[in-house]
Amino acid sequence: MAACINDHLKRYGGLAAGREEEQKRYFEERRLYALQIETTDACQQGCIYCYAGSTPREHHGLTSHEIRGLLDDAAALEIRAIDWLGGDPLVRPDWYELMQYARSLGLVNNVWTSGLPLKSKEIAARVHEVTEGGFVSVHVDSITPEVYARLHRGGNAHFIDAIVEGVDNLLALGKPADMMINCITYTAEQGPEDAIETMRWWFEEKGLRTCLTMFNPAGMGAEWRAFEPGLDEVQRVYTERDRIDFGGDNISIAAMDTDKFYCGTMATVTFTGDVTPCSVIRDGVANIRETPFREIIARHLDKLVHAELHDVRNLPAPCDTCGNNPHCWGCRASAYHYSGDADGLDPKCWLIRTEQTPNYFSGNSNSHKPSNEEIGLNP
Ligand code: SF4
Ligand code: SF4
Repeated sequence: MAACINDHLKRYGGLAAGREEEQKRYFEERRLYALQIETTDACQQGCIYCYAGSTPREHHGLTSHEIRGLLDDAAALEIRAIDWLGGDPLVRPDWYELMQYARSLGLVNNVWTSGLPLKSKEIAARVHEVTEGGFVSVHVDSITPEVYARLHRGGNAHFIDAIVEGVDNLLALGKPADMMINCITYTAEQGPEDAIETMRWWFEEKGLRTCLTMFNPAGMGAEWRAFEPGLDEVQRVYTERDRIDFGGDNISIAAMDTDKFYCGTMATVTFTGDVTPCSVIRDGVANIRETPFREIIARHLDKLVHAELHDVRNLPAPCDTCGNNPHCWGCRASAYHYSGDADGLDPKCWLIRTEQTPNYFSGNSNSHKPSNEEIGLNP
């Protein structure tokens, strides 16, 4: 069973496909494995809850010089992967040259795009080239036009088809579905049925798994607090995510969107230069426009990677005895935004609330995954 769990998680939990053992070693050493760089706040898609407040026109962004400096520093720190974020990193005119430069330094490129630029076959081909060995994430919250329209400014439901066409372009070029993922930011406004239908559609039709990010009232999205999901719907949606992403294994990463190995070896530089533990946490420890990046890392690494929590004995109870803690430690962003402590409990973990499944807190990794009936889900 343990081998089976590891096999699934290493492929779909840690966002380091093919290099999981190296990522775990970085975790043990409390180092940075991936650097998220938000290159611009511009994006065509117009998600209304966006923490970046993205609009089609750029209002904030890092300069090419700043980004090249970050890439040089990342290589010097032996960081292995650059996660390109925005906004949409593919709307920058210099994205291709920057990613080529990262590759020349031995860094792996992972691209988090809306997916809209991939509709261009030329752009898709270039993305395929520069993400060799890395993954591409697109972002379609809902495949239902009415729901999609409610969640996006302008309500352009035809964007769904455009992004699907972009994914098809990448698949046709030979990008494996295992190296692509669809992102959903789960909000109460979407509702569990639609999120589950969307996750199933992507997996059954295109082979893509889901990166299911919890809505947080962060940054420019703070005004959408009414979008905060309740625990019952979180349990339904995330349990189905576990089923799709990890198959029949009795494992869960609860309300995290990735496992702790990615979460605990990563830092973000926002499009205004702030250095934060995750793009969903908008408050930085320092800013690269005031302090050199390498100095920031030297001073604040422990806080950025939640170093103390790398030892499971330091996790807050009941996570310290949870059967999921070999790969889960709760979403640090949800802990920060919903309870005020980035190293505290994730209040969106339904297991903590209900303690319905006591085996999770006995250190037994064969713990029980709730059935469809228990979570009120029709298969
Ligand atoms: S109790 Fe903690 S370790 Fe266990 S599933 Fe919930 S957040 Fe993860
Ligand atoms: S803090 Fe939450 S959103 Fe950020 S990487 Fe960790 S699990 Fe994902």
